[in-house]
Amino acid sequence: MSEQHDNRDGFIPQYLLEKLAERGNEDAKRTLAQSKDIEKHNEELKKNSESRQLIENIGGQGQRFIYDSENTEQFKRKLVRKEGDSPVQDEIVNVAYDHCGKTLEYLKTKLGHNSIDNQGMDVVCNVHFGKNYANAFWTMNQLSVGDGDNRTFINLSRSIDVVSHEIAHGVTEYVNELKYQFQSGALNEHFSDVVGSAVQQFVKGQTAKMADWLIGDEVVGPDWPGKALRSMKEPGTAHELDDQPAHMRDFKKLPIKIDRGGVHINSGIPNKAFYLTAMEIGTDQAAFLWINAWKNKSIIHPQATFAEAFTAIQEAAEQLVQQGKLPQQATAVVKHAFQEVGVLA
Ligand SMILES: [Zn+2]
Repeated sequence: MSEQHDNRDGFIPQYLLEKLAERGNEDAKRTLAQSKDIEKHNEELKKNSESRQLIENIGGQGQRFIYDSENTEQFKRKLVRKEGDSPVQDEIVNVAYDHCGKTLEYLKTKLGHNSIDNQGMDVVCNVHFGKNYANAFWTMNQLSVGDGDNRTFINLSRSIDVVSHEIAHGVTEYVNELKYQFQSGALNEHFSDVVGSAVQQFVKGQTAKMADWLIGDEVVGPDWPGKALRSMKEPGTAHELDDQPAHMRDFKKLPIKIDRGGVHINSGIPNKAFYLTAMEIGTDQAAFLWINAWKNKSIIHPQATFAEAFTAIQEAAEQLVQQGKLPQQATAVVKHAFQEVGVLA
């Protein structure tokens, strides 16, 4: 396991919570304070043997283990539903179980990837993490999801794209370890949005053309100033504070202290390229292409750039077309998509 997951934000980006807090939003202020506590607690965990136990007994049968954190910030506190168990009374446990299952199913059947590490790693998910905690994150090989506050954010377990986005961070950690800052971090974020929206379309039975391509639309509540966190179709239009670019000419050169150099901001550029590709060859085939490119570690190194990601995607497209696994036009479609967003001149 790599180190970089240690520094990752939750599903709701910290820079957005900070902007909301500046506007006086109490939910954002509370969640930011909680995040600091959680981060400190996790740092401590990493230093002692307890954390090793938390990671080490995760097996390789691709099974689901849902734990109830009972509104504490503890991992693996109380096992409430494991693979094959009947539904329990707590609806949140059941939706988390189903969303983890659908994500694994999608990875396996559509992307040819066996769970998180491609070796059938079990999925551990902690629900009711923290008290009204309005976030979800992937750390120490497990997913932890808060309940939200029902004002700015709805219970995050209810949203399939939250669960699959976070699990995809685990996948990236294993396939190429993209560093969570600047362009490589934006690619890391981007890939989680790709998997999140692809799984959501799979579950809803939607095609690329039917989908809304919104990220986090199911978790934003009445106090959120917009319709979602991000739009892959029209980056920069999801809410009042949305400053995602859709083209390299608007790329935001940011210091590390702002969203780790813009990981949730500049991801709009590759997101748009994926959307354009999916509209031509279908979401499943586009996602299949992306994960194959992501596994090419000679090109997608930990600090890979958007241009390098394009090279890897282009190479994967050529190979997959040759193998008859992608339609003939895939290479031209990808090239056009990356031209549209200005990654390719
Ligand atoms: Zn993320």
